Amino acid sequence: MLPVKQALNRAGVKRLDKVSAPDNSSNVTKHLPDDIPVALRDSPSVAPATVDRSMLVAGLTTLGAIALAAVILVAVQLQRSQQAQSNSAAIAANSAQSPTPPNPTTSPTAASVNADIMLGHFRYPEAPLAELTPIASDGSLKLRKSAAKAYQEMQSAAQQEGVSLVPLSGFRTLTDQDYLFFGKKAERGQVAAERAKVSAPPGYSEHHTGYALDIGDGAVPATNLSPDFENTPAYKWLKANAPFHSFELSFPKNNKQGVSYEPWHWRFVGDRASLETFYKARGKK
Ligand SMILES: [Zn+2]
Repeated sequence: MLPVKQALNRAGVKRLDKVSAPDNSSNVTKHLPDDIPVALRDSPSVAPATVDRSMLVAGLTTLGAIALAAVILVAVQLQRSQQAQSNSAAIAANSAQSPTPPNPTTSPTAASVNADIMLGHFRYPEAPLAELTPIASDGSLKLRKSAAKAYQEMQSAAQQEGVSLVPLSGFRTLTDQDYLFFGKKAERGQVAAERAKVSAPPGYSEHHTGYALDIGDGAVPATNLSPDFENTPAYKWLKANAPFHSFELSFPKNNKQGVSYEPWHWRFVGDRASLETFYKARGKK
């Protein structure tokens, strides 16, 4: 029993000690606060809260301002890019029109020499009628004067070597080409892209330039306008001699234009106008 009482007493003593100890300490702490200025005592507990709030407000304000600025920037950029697009479109439209001002004396096609390409064919100006002259005795086939002269000289040169060059088709009007393209296309049930491999769309044929013609072999008329023409003496002679007369094959095998091989179709490139007609349009030098 004694040990228990002693223990209790000890506990009581301890409790008393504990009770008295806080009293002492509270006295101490009561003294301490009086030494510390009110402002300093408040600062540790109150100041962080106000800093947090003000920082939060400042942060949110900054974020809001940044978001607003971003939205304005995006809007301005969008507007600018739209303006730039419409400007460049306008410039493109202008530049497309400016080199070829409308000319009442010539057809719209004749007025424009540019890099227009349709279905693999380049757009060419139509030869002025006054520039055309017959290359056959019946007067049915015509070429531009410079090309006609060169062709006749070439034909004579071939004849002297026993080769018969026969002109099959020369200058063709846009109306002729219109029939050839749309008429034949419908007749044969061909779609435009299919037809374009063997005949140029109106406005895009070398025939209306007055510089191009189709040539046959008078000795082998069955090969007229056929790939078999390449096996004739006329073709072999042309291949060897046409360059001396300033004629070249327009559509050789596997040409970049994707037009069918036409060994019978030759064009004159012997003067500045003809050269420009065929080469300026495709950006070659
Ligand atoms: Zn032709």
